[in-house]
Amino acid sequence: MTYPDSHYAATRSDDAVRPPLNGEHEVEVCVVGGGLAGLNTALGLAERGISTILIEAERVGFGASGRNGGFVGPGYSQDTDWLVERVGMDHTRALCDLTLSALDVIRERIEQHAIACGPNTPGILVSSWTDDPDGMRRYSDGMKQQFGLDLEFVPRERVANEFANSPCYFDGIYNKTSFQFHPLNYCLGIARAAEAAGASIHEGTPLVCLEVEGPQKQIVTPHALIRARHVVLACGGYGLGVLPDISGAVLPVATHVMTTKPIADDVLGTAIRQRICLADTRGAGDYYRALPDGRIVWGGRMTASTTPPPSLARDMLGDLVKVYPQLADHAVVESAWTGTMSYARHKMPQIGQLREGVWYAQAFGGSGMGTTTVAGELLSSAIAQGDDRYRLFEPFGLDWAGGPFGRVVAQATYWSYQMRDALTARKDRKKRASTVRQKTA
Ligand SMILES: Cc1cc2nc3c(=O)[nH]c(=O)nc-3n(C[C@H](O)[C@H](O)[C@H](O)COP(=O)(O)OP(=O)(O)OC[C@H]3O[C@@H](n4cnc5c(N)ncnc54)[C@H](O)[C@@H]3O)c2cc1C
Repeated sequence: MTYPDSHYAATRSDDAVRPPLNGEHEVEVCVVGGGLAGLNTALGLAERGISTILIEAERVGFGASGRNGGFVGPGYSQDTDWLVERVGMDHTRALCDLTLSALDVIRERIEQHAIACGPNTPGILVSSWTDDPDGMRRYSDGMKQQFGLDLEFVPRERVANEFANSPCYFDGIYNKTSFQFHPLNYCLGIARAAEAAGASIHEGTPLVCLEVEGPQKQIVTPHALIRARHVVLACGGYGLGVLPDISGAVLPVATHVMTTKPIADDVLGTAIRQRICLADTRGAGDYYRALPDGRIVWGGRMTASTTPPPSLARDMLGDLVKVYPQLADHAVVESAWTGTMSYARHKMPQIGQLREGVWYAQAFGGSGMGTTTVAGELLSSAIAQGDDRYRLFEPFGLDWAGGPFGRVVAQATYWSYQMRDALTARKDRKKRASTVRQKTA
């Protein structure tokens, strides 16, 4: 029952251990999983006066929610063109609005519950890995007009001078709605808020058996039996086998984060000009941010195997130096770790009800901070007040994710992204080099 060795675990705001649950209990709702999907649901339920027990196999925020890049932004892992084609423009707008409102909820909760999860600096710049200014402009204009997102096209000179000085980047898109946080400290803050509102949270309490027949569900853990009218399964990529209809609908996909030791301001500033969230446009690119003390939190790569590769720290440092060669002699890895996300084949969250009283919230992919907040709000208001907005997610059902075969496909897809990105980037860099040669000839 310990956190993985990470920068977040080393700088967590409190270390209160919540004892495992013992004995028999009767409650309105049992939430399984202490990541942000489960914690947000427990908080939403407790705020609405519903008696709730949350059980977590390990520690609060032990999974992806306490290990991630800390980017808090609107939208989903699936892109909006796909969504419009699948469910139409109005439905897509309603889905996007949910994630925009979720960012307000997160900001309000940080303030209302005094959650020390800074820095919460606003802004994300996504830089293009390829030479496509027209495409970038079209994308930012389209998202502004159709979904009201506050995006700004940033030409390449400004990207290099004001945001991120890398030979890999071309133009960028800046979004000031997004912001950042310390994800584990945010989880711990939400857990405390849920407890203050009346929820009971137990760590070291895995669900081992679930009986869902009849109006009263039975949730069995090693030392407790909980009877509840509702059970919410929110086990992310860590809960394989809990209920096959639900757990079989997601693929666990690993991704990785490292932090460097602090880098002096004058050196860091030659590369990272602003301490906002930074990322690139590749299918599975880098995402990173510099902290106030000069550390860089650097995320990237995806693997179908969920065990950290032995060369993780070296690989991640190699990725950083490729983007910022000027930091080669200055960046030293302090810690590197792996987390598991859950993905559905359709890349949208799965939020819904399998049968009377059996709810699920999973498959938040790589954009889970806003979307787990959406899930918590929708499921708690569905259970407490009969709100049926969760049905907006009905088109994205519990399709079987393919088991071990699905993992092979996921890994192959990632490698194909890498190859395509590398080929395009090589072509664009050759083009840029020849333009520079012509200009200087
Ligand atoms: C390295 C990494 C970087 C990422 N970066 C970002 C980012 O910058 N921004 C962003 O928006 N998203 C990011 N994501 C995605 C985001 O973190 C996830 O989508 C989100 O945290 C998922 O939340 P969750 O509650 O569904 O799952 P988790 O946080 O994984 O929580 C599931 C919990 O369920 C528990 N559990 C499992 N089985 C049982 C059981 N049988 N009984 C009891 N408990 C159980 C687990 O122990 C775990 O604590 C990243 C993910 C990773 C891994």
